[in-house]
Amino acid sequence: MNIPLTFLTHLECSVCGDRHSPHELQAVCRSCGKSLLARYDLQAAKSQFLSEHLKSKAPSMWRYLPVLPIERETNIVSLGEGMTPLVPLRKIGDELGLSNLWMKDEGQLPTGSFKARGLAMAISKAKELGVRAVCMPTAGNAGGAAAAYAARAGLQSIIFMPEDTPEINIKESIVYGAQVELVKGNISDAAKVMNEKKQKGWFDVSTLKEPYRLEGKKTMGYELAEQFDWELPDVVLYPTGGGTGLIGMWKAFDEMEQLGWINSRRPRMISVQAAGCAPIVKAFQEQKSESEFWQNAQTVASGLRVPKAFADHLILKAVYDSNGSAVAVKDEELLVAMREIAQKEGLFICPEGAATLVALKKLLAENFVTPDETILLFNTGAGIKYPELVKRS
Ligand SMILES: *Cc1c(COP(=O)(O)O)cnc(C)c1O
Repeated sequence: MNIPLTFLTHLECSVCGDRHSPHELQAVCRSCGKSLLARYDLQAAKSQFLSEHLKSKAPSMWRYLPVLPIERETNIVSLGEGMTPLVPLRKIGDELGLSNLWMKDEGQLPTGSFKARGLAMAISKAKELGVRAVCMPTAGNAGGAAAAYAARAGLQSIIFMPEDTPEINIKESIVYGAQVELVKGNISDAAKVMNEKKQKGWFDVSTLKEPYRLEGKKTMGYELAEQFDWELPDVVLYPTGGGTGLIGMWKAFDEMEQLGWINSRRPRMISVQAAGCAPIVKAFQEQKSESEFWQNAQTVASGLRVPKAFADHLILKAVYDSNGSAVAVKDEELLVAMREIAQKEGLFICPEGAATLVALKKLLAENFVTPDETILLFNTGAGIKYPELVKRS
């Protein structure tokens, strides 16, 4: 049976519900300025796109194409991203008395972080819609991923970074041919400077200020469901900056239920942040629906240095709706966990990913997690991108 390449129908505002066309370039909702979400005709997809069809597909995130936003296959800009391994953490699990502890290792993706998923999608769609140049502010891995996919797509990229962004993130952007502008301050300051300097024709691919990075990151939700044989884990711990991955997975779970691939059971979603920049944790503790700007954000986990996530209300909603939680982890603690995971499991992961193990230990101590539950830690990047964090002794 021939099925449509995509069941994409429209874009819908996450707050006011306004509809927008997916055939024109869209940033945020024209009525209220909030994030747009891609919507699909899932009822039609349910009878045509079956999970069995996945068996014959290549092991990449593009195996879910009918529920992705690309309308012509030739527009896909790919470096082979997706289907990252689900690795059992046996030794650490044994020590903690957990029988089902797993890590989804996104450090093996092109450009060494899961930013590849979002930017592969955003840049593919931008190319499809005729964009010639993309810009973004970033304090970490997004710059390299944007620059890599832009290079492959033949687009120009202009990246605004805080001066103290890790050297590797600046250099990787430069090597792919991006125009890199260094800015005093943090990612919010970089965004300000970008908006002052923004030229006609530059398309802003900031987190959730365009609808398609989310569609790339949601494939983590599809993948983990498929890898767990359509039984979602009980608990998912996710290192949260802008929150694209957490929001994306939550969206994917809902879509998969509508496709008839999973039931209504959901993991408890845990947003893990660094103690030096924990706006979501603070909002969660105060049971608020939005976060406040975090002053003087500081952490070695550069991907978590986001003082105010643009879609904080969507992150918090997923955490509340899932009966989840939000946990802050100190830099000293996550650095120790980086070594622990490397030495006990052979995985050299990023500090953001290591934070999830510290958070898990805290949740175990509070009995929020029980020993027989299936627990998934997200490693979002490769440790080798953070050489400055490893001491020789
Ligand atoms: C960007 C980033 C994060 C945060 O991701 P969001 O989905 O934006 O919350 C976590 N870890 C690493 C390594 C990152 O680069």
